[in-house]
Amino acid sequence: MTAGVQAISSYPWQDTAWQQLMTQHANQHLPHAILLSSQSHSGIETLAIRLVARLICPEPVGDNACGLCRNCKLLQAGGHPDVFFLEPEEDSKVIKIDQIRNFAHKISLTAGIAKYKVAMVRPAEAMNLAAANALLKTLEEPAGDTYIILSSTEPARLLATIRSRCQQYTIQPAVSAAIKSWLDELGYEAKQIGAALLAARGLPLLAEEYLQGDLLEVRRNVGIGYLKSARGQADPVAVANSWVALNQPLVWLWLSQWMGDVARASLANEPCTDPVSEAVRKTRPGFPVKTSLQLQAMAMQGWRSKESSLRQDLLFEQWLLQWAQV
Ligand SMILES: [Zn+2]
Repeated sequence: MTAGVQAISSYPWQDTAWQQLMTQHANQHLPHAILLSSQSHSGIETLAIRLVARLICPEPVGDNACGLCRNCKLLQAGGHPDVFFLEPEEDSKVIKIDQIRNFAHKISLTAGIAKYKVAMVRPAEAMNLAAANALLKTLEEPAGDTYIILSSTEPARLLATIRSRCQQYTIQPAVSAAIKSWLDELGYEAKQIGAALLAARGLPLLAEEYLQGDLLEVRRNVGIGYLKSARGQADPVAVANSWVALNQPLVWLWLSQWMGDVARASLANEPCTDPVSEAVRKTRPGFPVKTSLQLQAMAMQGWRSKESSLRQDLLFEQWLLQWAQV
C-alpha cells in the first residue's frame, strides 16, 4: 500500500528533534540508521515522513521539501522509486522478511533518481523476528547513499541489536499547555479541549481525534459497561461482545488507563480526575494494587493483540471476567 504522502510539516512538539536532524544533515552528520520514537498518538510517523520528503527533495525550501519538484510529486503520489515503505501489507499485521530482502536487493542496484534512497520502517515493532534479523544485516553494511528511518511507539520491543545500530531520537510527549495551544489554533472550543485533553492523557493526536468525532461518547459507554461488570449489573460476555464492534485498540487503551488510575489512586490515597476511575475507586475501595496492575498489563497485551489473529471477543471476555471476579 502507500497512498499519497503529504509531508511538508510536522507537529510543534517535534520541532526540537526536527532542528537536531536538520543540523546534523546540514553538517553531513545525519546518521544513516535513524530510530524515531515517541508515545502512541503523537504523530511520530509524520515526523518520519517529513524527513523522508526532505531527503529526497533536491530543492528544499528552508528545511522543508519543496512539495513541487518531480521527486516530491512522485512521493506524494506514493510511487517514488527510491523510497521504500516497509510496513504491514494489506491483511498482514507484521512486516515480513521478504519485504526487507526485496528492499535490500533493490538498494544494491544502480542509482535512482534522487540523491538518496530512503526506507521507512513503520511501525518498526511490526517486524517479525526474521524480518528484524534481515534488516540488521542491511544496517550492518550500510550503503552510503541509503537512509533507513524506523518509527516506533514501542521501541522497547525492538531487538536490542537494531536499537544499537540506530541513532535514537526520542520525542518527549508534549506538555499539555503546548497541546492545548495547538488545539486552540485548530479552532476547537476551550471547554471541549479541556474534556478531550483530560481523556486523552497527554496524547495529542488522540485528543484531536476525540474532538473530531463521537469517541468521547463511545468511551463513556465503554466505561459504563466496565463499571457495571464490576458491580454485577451486566453480563461480561454481553459487554465483551458489544466492544468487538468498536475501535478495539482504543478500548484496550481505555481499560489500561482506568486500571492505571485505580492503582495510582490506591497508592496515593487520592481521588481520580477521570469520572470512570473515580466511580471505581468509590465502589471498590481497597481494590488490590497488584490486581490493578495485572489488569492494566493484560489490557496492554490486548492492545498489542491488534498484531495477532487472537479473537478479540474472547480476550475482552477473559479480561472482564477477571475484573468482575476480584
Ligand atoms: Zn521537492
